[in-house]
Amino acid sequence: MVNHDENCIFCKIIRKEIPSEIVYQDEKVTAFKDLSPIAPVHVLIVPNTHIPSLSESSSEHAELLGEVLLAGAKIARDLKIDQSGYRIVVNNGADAGQTVFHIHFHLLGGRELHFKTQ
Ligand code: AMP
Ligand code: ZN
Repeated sequence: MVNHDENCIFCKIIRKEIPSEIVYQDEKVTAFKDLSPIAPVHVLIVPNTHIPSLSESSSEHAELLGEVLLAGAKIARDLKIDQSGYRIVVNNGADAGQTVFHIHFHLLGGRELHFKTQ
């Protein structure tokens, strides 16, 4: 079942209530271009159901989070950065600078990446 939060910007993107550049969508996962990219490829991959953060997810989400991660690998292949390399990042909480509280995986690539992502 897909839950959504009326006030969540990513739930609105998933439901196409606000515009975004969606690069992949299926019944469980949506991926769209980051509004402020920090790399030539910067895509956010999210579950269609509203989960605020990694620390607020639980074993019931294990399969879904695996599918989000595998969608990232598929999108990396589609965008042809799988050979050059890429990084997938989840920010959790204040010290990681999480600003949107709908769990999302950053897919970064198209340039050499340093350890820090911001
Ligand atoms: P985080 O710091 O991990 O919470 O990342 C949130 C990301 O969401 C940032 O990289 C923002 O640039 C991105 N972002 C915020 N609003 C939008 C939007 N409407 N469409 C696409 N990306 C967004
Ligand atoms: Zn949401």
